[in-house]
Amino acid sequence: MPIEFTFTPEQEALRSAVRQFLEKEVAPVVAAMDESESFPEATVRRMREEGYFGVPIPEEYGGLGLGKVGYCILLEELGRVDASHGAIVGAHTSLGTTPLLSYGTEEQKRRWLVPAARGERLLAFSLTEPGSGSDSGAVQTVAERRGDGFVLTGTKIYVTNGREADTVIVMAGTDVKLGPSGGVTAFLLDKGLPGFTVGRCEKKMGLHGTSTAELVLDHVEVGPERVLGEVGKGFHVAMTALDVGRVSLGAASLGGIDAACAQALTFAQERTQFGLPISEYEAIQFKLSDMAMHAHALRFMVYHAAARQDRMGPDPKKWGRLERAQKTREAATIKCLGSEWASEAIDEALQIHGGLGYIRGTPIERAYRDARISEIFEGTNEIQRLVIARDLLARGL
Ligand SMILES: Cc1cc2nc3c(=O)[nH]c(=O)nc-3n(C[C@H](O)[C@H](O)[C@H](O)COP(=O)(O)OP(=O)(O)OC[C@H]3O[C@@H](n4cnc5c(N)ncnc54)[C@H](O)[C@@H]3O)c2cc1C
Repeated sequence: MPIEFTFTPEQEALRSAVRQFLEKEVAPVVAAMDESESFPEATVRRMREEGYFGVPIPEEYGGLGLGKVGYCILLEELGRVDASHGAIVGAHTSLGTTPLLSYGTEEQKRRWLVPAARGERLLAFSLTEPGSGSDSGAVQTVAERRGDGFVLTGTKIYVTNGREADTVIVMAGTDVKLGPSGGVTAFLLDKGLPGFTVGRCEKKMGLHGTSTAELVLDHVEVGPERVLGEVGKGFHVAMTALDVGRVSLGAASLGGIDAACAQALTFAQERTQFGLPISEYEAIQFKLSDMAMHAHALRFMVYHAAARQDRMGPDPKKWGRLERAQKTREAATIKCLGSEWASEAIDEALQIHGGLGYIRGTPIERAYRDARISEIFEGTNEIQRLVIARDLLARGL
């Protein structure tokens, strides 16, 4: 059985439709969005209309039914054009719709997943708190039992889409002493619930089209229908979402490397110094070769992992222990390598542009600011290396 793989005609059609759409509708607005630091409402609305907020979700739940491979194609294409649009779709899809599909009851899927996959409602995911970042099981937001429901109190931070989302998947401690092993539960909180408000939104070095919001929960009362997955098993919910998120981040990084390489290649062939195009100098050629090598390797890694996740399906009860461990290690590897390779490629592409690369408003300058966060969010790269090392020590290579 050959290990070579190719995209289906349907996947190729998705790529070409997305590429056309992004070039025509998104690329022209990105510089102004970045400068004004505003959420790109008009293009997000158009992406919703195109079905891009439900690419991996089965058609019976309102999505396009194109799986994780289709979703990674979308994220790769977004990564070529604009990281903010990629992060908006990623927070909604990887971190919002994935856990609903994997852990939602049929009723929850009808109520929250279907409108989200159709793009009628925007989702966000909220794990991080002021005192709980990498140590994500140490959440201090509490969910106390009241009758058959809960009362949530606490402060969450750094929530992508937090300002605009209609529904946020919030991790809260139902038994803070137990931490991640049985003490954290996932809740579906709609904006407008009494006591649930958006606090400050951060100013950032990049991703200017996204909101990064604080969420304040002041005695938010919820019924049992808002518990996603089992009580105390919120960490499984979060990790399932992050396994998908980390592979799709790799896809977005791949798009970032492709775009950086293309821009650097064009510039190097046009820019003449010492009587020759700078592309004639080996020092420049080697930088371009490194970008191409990393893009080649990352492409195989991303789509191999996405195809594996498609093969495993969305039901966690059907995943074997080994398969689950392999999926998690693979996702951590792709997120870590992909983000570092993208940062490196964009840095070198900026260097190839010389002084022009440092001038505000050039695509490579924006990409440089946007790319840095991929080494930090969805688990820092130090944490990815810990995940990989723990699995390595437990299972070997
Ligand atoms: C723009 C943006 C968007 C975000 N979006 C979301 C979102 O949508 N939802 C959400 O829940 N969160 C989100 N986050 C939060 C993000 O996931 C966290 O910032 C990240 O996980 C790191 O947590 P921290 O900032 O608290 O850093 P810390 O955990 O305090 O880490 C500080 C440093 O210490 C290192 N470190 C920590 N522990 C160890 C260890 N055991 N071994 C070695 N090194 C260690 C880290 O790697 C890092 O370098 C977002 C953050 C940003 C900036």
